[in-house]
Amino acid sequence: MDYLKQYEDEMAAYDRQDHDFIDDDKIWSQLKAAENPSREAVRAVLQKAEKTVRLEPEETAILLQNSDPETITEMYELANRLKQEVYGDRIVFFAPLYISDECANDCKYCGFRRSNHMMHRKTLSMDEIDKEVRTMIREGQKRTVLVYGEAPSTGIDFLCKSIEKVYSVKEGNGEIRRANINAAPLSVPELRRLKEIGIGTFQVFQETYHHETYRHLHPANTVKGNYRWRLYAMDRALEAGLGDVGIGALFGLYDWRFEVMGLLYHTIHLEETFNGVGPHTISFPRITPATGTPFSDHPEYAVSDEDFKKLVAVLRLSVPYTGMICTARETKEVRDSVLPLGVSQIDGGTRIGVGGYGVKDANALPDKEQFSLGDTRSLDDVVLETGEMGNIPSFCTACYRMGRVGEEFMGLAKSKFVHHFCIPNAIFTFKEYLLDYAGPETREKGEQIIAKHVARFAGEPIYDTIRENLRRLENGERDLRV
Ligand code: SAM
Ligand code: SF4
Repeated sequence: MDYLKQYEDEMAAYDRQDHDFIDDDKIWSQLKAAENPSREAVRAVLQKAEKTVRLEPEETAILLQNSDPETITEMYELANRLKQEVYGDRIVFFAPLYISDECANDCKYCGFRRSNHMMHRKTLSMDEIDKEVRTMIREGQKRTVLVYGEAPSTGIDFLCKSIEKVYSVKEGNGEIRRANINAAPLSVPELRRLKEIGIGTFQVFQETYHHETYRHLHPANTVKGNYRWRLYAMDRALEAGLGDVGIGALFGLYDWRFEVMGLLYHTIHLEETFNGVGPHTISFPRITPATGTPFSDHPEYAVSDEDFKKLVAVLRLSVPYTGMICTARETKEVRDSVLPLGVSQIDGGTRIGVGGYGVKDANALPDKEQFSLGDTRSLDDVVLETGEMGNIPSFCTACYRMGRVGEEFMGLAKSKFVHHFCIPNAIFTFKEYLLDYAGPETREKGEQIIAKHVARFAGEPIYDTIRENLRRLENGERDLRV
């Protein structure tokens, strides 16, 4: 069936709604009302944020509008503290796997857009997926996000087949244990099929929450041209029973403060509609240059590194229980600067060309890449350097595989129990990485990192279990978790 026609009726129903949960004028008036906030006003919001509760839009607006260096430092310190409290000092690792760059949409900023004739289109065959996944597993990956353009050829049947293929690959001691999906917004029956297969997080980024900018960047005669079909994609995913959904905005399309407000309103809408369940993750990619895509070279609303740090901290303070992802679009320096401000997941050893894991150099396939990478380090280097910053690298997939998703996960995070599951599981999966994949330096320093983290559990009931599981891993067992 024609791609656009397939969703036409549902889209028309959304169009008949007289409003949606993003009110552009209201957001701007909240931002205007919060201009040049006093130190007292900023500190009052920080006092509330200290209690690890979600902030209200008026409060987030105050933090976004704060340009006083003294209270910005206080914001950064609190963002770091909240991250430690809710997530501990683990950083979860994943890597994207680009399955297809065929796309029927025409987003002005993206290298995959259909009018970009400098792109050599490619969709991986099942054998090619097998090969890519084996390479990823051999490097130590356990978690991936599968990325697709939006085309009829990569519709729901292809999605299901490719995900099943990824899960079926076994290589040495390893396998991909969690496949997240970043694909087109889908209908509820389609999403139910993804639920049956057992995907991790279902991600769709709104790109920009600003209605007029959205219209300008996404031609109306494409599926992506329908703002609300995309805006309500997560409602449909939760309705279909998927537990973890990931939202995001592409920074550089419109004013960054407006987009943070949009992400917050999206979170509030989901929490209010689905019994307290908000997004599992928030992504905040910045536009990066893409082959044959002049828009991406100098976006009008480009976000500076300083503002990027601020937006990460404000998000952390505003939605303390939501995972935050910073990808290899950013350079090592930028990633290092935002890790302490609240980021909980990063990718490492990333390739974004379709078929890229079979190629030695990152950024080696510009005509098959959606954009160019800022951080081209190997997984082993990112793991080591992240660990040396005081974090514990984690490849954990336990919660999703033990059914701790959605409402249940939010409950756990809220009561700060994550520490008791996530840190031990981070230790086990990091140990697996050291035993099976790490280079000599990472192995040596990684053992010291593990010892330091294990010691913190001394005196707690779980201490003996952690030490016993580490012994079992050394004796050849794998995939241990609590
Ligand atoms: N086709 C699907 C879609 O548009 O949602 C999923 C895949 S798309 C390849 C994943 C994300 O890449 C988009 O949602 C967008 O935010 C981001 N993206 C597009 N162009 C980009 C660019 N030039 N730089 C950085 N990120 C970009
Ligand atoms: Fe296609 Fe997604 Fe790129 Fe838009 S952002 S052109 S939908 S791949």
